[in-house]
This record gives sequence, C-alpha cells and structure tokens, in this order.
Amino acid sequence: MTQQFISLETNPVSYQAMHRLLDEPAADALLTERELEVRLRTREVVAHKVAPSAAKADATHEFAAESVLALAEAKLMGLVFPEHLGGTGDSNVAYAVAMEEITAGCAATSLVFMTQMHTAYPILLAGSEDLAKKHIPSLLNRSKWGSLAITEPDAGSDVASLRTTATKVDGGYRISGAKTFITTGDRCDTIICFASVDRSKGRQGITAFVVDGNAEGVTRGQPFDKMGMHASTTAEVFFDGVFVRDDHMLGEPGGGWSVVMSSVVKSRISAAAQGVGLARAAYARTLHALSQRYGPRLPDELTFALATLRGRILQGRLLLIAVARQVDEDPQIAPGQVGMMKQSCTDLGWEVSAECMRLLGALGDMRELGVERCLRDSKVTQIYDGTNEVQRLLIGRETNRAMESLS
Ligand SMILES: Cc1cc2nc3c(=O)[nH]c(=O)nc-3n(C[C@H](O)[C@H](O)[C@H](O)COP(=O)(O)OP(=O)(O)OC[C@H]3O[C@@H](n4cnc5c(N)ncnc54)[C@H](O)[C@@H]3O)c2cc1C
Repeated sequence: MTQQFISLETNPVSYQAMHRLLDEPAADALLTERELEVRLRTREVVAHKVAPSAAKADATHEFAAESVLALAEAKLMGLVFPEHLGGTGDSNVAYAVAMEEITAGCAATSLVFMTQMHTAYPILLAGSEDLAKKHIPSLLNRSKWGSLAITEPDAGSDVASLRTTATKVDGGYRISGAKTFITTGDRCDTIICFASVDRSKGRQGITAFVVDGNAEGVTRGQPFDKMGMHASTTAEVFFDGVFVRDDHMLGEPGGGWSVVMSSVVKSRISAAAQGVGLARAAYARTLHALSQRYGPRLPDELTFALATLRGRILQGRLLLIAVARQVDEDPQIAPGQVGMMKQSCTDLGWEVSAECMRLLGALGDMRELGVERCLRDSKVTQIYDGTNEVQRLLIGRETNRAMESLS
C-alpha cells in the first residue's frame, strides 16, 4: 500500500467515538435507560478487550477464549437469565444490542458468546431447577464451554430427519449418532444434544438432553477450516452409546421439538444482531479508512453511497429492536416475524460489507482494514440458525395462509 492506514480497532478512544457516530437517535428512542447502559458498557469492554485482538485472532485462528472471558467478567453473558443463575434478568432487546456491539468489534467472539447463551437457554426453558443450577452458571461465567448440537450430516435445514438416537435403558438413555458443524464442538464441556427416542414418530420423537462433553463415548472432532469467524471453532461431535441419566432430559420424551422452536427464536435474534453489527463494522472501518485518505470531507459520490448505507443500517437496527421487543412481550411470536428480521439483517451484513469493499477499491481487499473480514464473517450468518431460504419459506407460508383465509 502506498499509504499506511491505522486500524480503527487499535485505539479504544477513537473506536468508541467512531461507533458513537452511528448511534441513531431514531433507534435510541426505542431503548430503555437500562438497554442504553448495557450498550455503553458492552462497547467499552469491546473497545478495550475484544476489538484490539480481533484482526490477529482472525489471522492466527486463535480461539476467542480471552475476549469471551472479558465479556463474562463484565456480567454480559447472562443478560436474559435470572440473577440466581448468574444472569442479570435483562430483556431480549438488551441482549440484541449487546450482540450488535460485540459483533462490531469481533464477529467470531460474538459467535462463541452467543453459543454459550444458546446452550444455557434450553436448560432454563425445559430443565429442572437442579439441572439449571448445575449447568447454567458455569456457562455464563465461562468456566465451561457449551455447544448446541442439532445439525447432522443428513439433517441440516430438515431438522426432523435427524438420526441420532436415544435408547431407553435402566435409569436413563444411551445416545448414539454424529453431529456436525457444531460451534465450540472441539472443546465443549456441556452439550445440548437433540436425539430421537423413536424415529418412526418424526418430530414427535425428538428429545433434548444435557450431555457431559467429557463423558465416556463422546468424541469431539478437530476444528474445520472455514471462510470466516476464525476465532471460533466448528467441529463434529460423535456419541457412541453415551449414558445420560433420566434427569438430564429436557422436558418429556419427544418434547424436543418445542425446545428447538423456542431456542431458534433466541438464536435468530443473535444472528440478526450479528448482521447489523457486521454492517456497522464494515461502515465504520470504511469511513475511518476513507477519512485517512481524503480528510474529513469526502468526495460527493462517496458521501452519497455512505448515506444510503447508513439509512439501511438504521432500518436493520429498527427491525432488530422491534422484533426483539415483540419477543419480550410475546415469546410465541409468529416464525415469519422472526424470519423477516433474521433474513433481512443477515443479508444486510453481507450486502453492506460488499458495498464497502467496492467503495474502497483495492484497499477493501487489504486485510489490515478489516472490511474483507466483515464480508467473510457475514456469509455464515445467512446460513446458520435457519438458512435465509428457510426464513423466506416460513414467511411465504404465513403469506399463503393469510391469502387462503381471504378466499
Ligand atoms: C460456522 C457454522 C456454525 C454452525 N454452528 C452450528 C451449531 O452450533 N449447532 C448446530 O446444530 N448447527 C450449526 N451449524 C449448522 C447450520 O445450522 C446448518 O449448516 C444449517 O442449518 C443448514 O444446514 P445444511 O448446511 O445441512 O444445509 P442444507 O439444509 O443441506 O441446505 C443446502 C441449501 O438448500 C437450501 N434449502 C434447504 N431446504 C430448503 C427448503 N425447504 N426450501 C428452500 N431451500 C432449502 C438451503 O437454504 C441451502 O441453501 C453451523 C454451521 C456453520 C457453517
């Protein structure tokens, strides 16, 4: 490069100042005082303890253990959990706002962070008080790593066709099967494993279990080599006749489908917040680089293009907050509402990152600016937590049902 660029992430003070520029009053008006406080606190921790190491971790693939610990120590991991389990009893909106902040600093850290929450949440939802006390605090304070294991080699979008079985034995179940693409799967201490107690029953056979990752019969694979999210790991997990006690089943035998459905509402908020966070990171890094190149007054064509992006990021944030607020008010929210948020916000992350690369020309391809990282990290947000095609399918079904009711 002919000019040396200073990365936004190296200076916590200018990092926070630049991101403050993107706090839009129209969105802030929808947040409570406490939610604004959570955002400020998260941004501070991210600026000092997460963002500065993000580029290096992307290059070296070093697992985000330290940055997740910093978030746990700041009491941010248990936002939607009750205090007696190590949480702070906050809203889904507070969680979404925090996720957006963490992602803007380091998307891979946000993936590990959200997976701790996604592992703990089914236990809160359907586990006994004893099970919750035994497993949730250690996930929220990061002394244990968690994984949510649904996907299998032949069961991705079509979760109901999963083949992992749970066979009833004296005092519990024996689980056998293979899970793949599992976040933190290479090191998980606590696993929520979805298995079928009766494959002939399809969805009605699916059951969720809390499995000890160090139990006899569990094998954790090596991390896959991925396009993005390098500071997180994704691996296979194998179960070979793993014994799980009856009291480690979440809900009733065959009650796992409702656990899946309630869990995906939370995980789709996570993915959507990542989309908005990645769009914002791409925008902030681009503005920072362009101001180093042109000074504070940018050429009109760049100003116009950035104005369009800023409006789109605001739209994404408004949608994220509106749907997360609706989930706070009614957890039985229609899947299409959640689907519109997940699909729009994760497409936003990908599209804004690509547009920012275009605005930067060859500079956008330079790793030190971190914009190409936004593009690489954003791709997978369109795939996991229900692909965006599946979201469109859910939205379309609701439209069709509404049309049928008219005729
Ligand atoms: C980095 C990463 C982390 C992940 N973490 C986890 C995790 O922690 N736990 C976990 O359980 N899983 C995890 N996954 C798996 C992820 O949830 C699945 O990849 C996802 O559900 C899609 O499944 P699939 O890959 O089998 O694709 P498929 O279901 O085979 O889909 C392939 C293509 O077909 C499309 N398609 C499928 N069905 C339909 C349909 N009915 N209509 C229209 N289009 C359709 C899809 O949209 C996609 O484009 C992770 C994946 C990645 C890449």
